[in-house]
Amino acid sequence: MKCKNCSSQLSTENNYCEHCGAKVINYRLSLKQLWGEFKLNFLSFDHTFFNTFWSLLTQPQHVINSYIGGTRKKYLNVVSFFVIALTLVGFQLFIQRKFYPESLQVGTMFGTDFFGTNLDWIYENYSLIQLVNLPLYAFIAKLSFFNYKKFNYTEHLVVMTYLTAENTILTSIFLLIAVNFGGNMYELSNYFNLFFFLYTCYAYKKLYPLRWIELFTATVLFITIITILMVFLTMVGVGYAFMTN
Ligand SMILES: [Zn+2]
Repeated sequence: MKCKNCSSQLSTENNYCEHCGAKVINYRLSLKQLWGEFKLNFLSFDHTFFNTFWSLLTQPQHVINSYIGGTRKKYLNVVSFFVIALTLVGFQLFIQRKFYPESLQVGTMFGTDFFGTNLDWIYENYSLIQLVNLPLYAFIAKLSFFNYKKFNYTEHLVVMTYLTAENTILTSIFLLIAVNFGGNMYELSNYFNLFFFLYTCYAYKKLYPLRWIELFTATVLFITIITILMVFLTMVGVGYAFMTN
């Protein structure tokens, strides 16, 4: 018999293909089988997802150190978790734009007309923006912990992706509830940012682990680097806008 997925020869006693790892299936599909697959995949996924979500909130170092250390079954891997977060935020923005457009209205301090078109672009490319931000966050994190050997750049990227995804899921759920009570995304965003900041500090303190003074030093470094970067990018942006009128 040959493997139905990769066509390599199977030895009869194996339940899984030695070459590609696919399960050997010899039975006719039935509702019972289908239900079995559903239970195995969806319900166990469900369990793993909530376990990951809850652990990331309370003991983020368990999830992140497990993944970096090579554990794969206990918690949801970082890529799937991030994809779920992006799916949820896509759903949240869809609901907001369709049913609660007032929750996306920018306050008077910006001037709605000027930002209107640009913001639409942001909503439609939210995943893309997140994907550009993460390597940047990881890079600044690596610089902020330049005197620590524990994580390399890729591992910082995993840390930042898990933390961003967790934060995204929390704010999405919160927003989906808050819009029903007249909540505005931009008015709430300061609280969200403050939460993300504190949560990131908490996670990094647990991850290394850091003493308070070490956490403080790394945080000051992080804020300094990101401020310099923002000033630089703003100058480039203003310069570009000025030159192109
Ligand atoms: Zn195979």
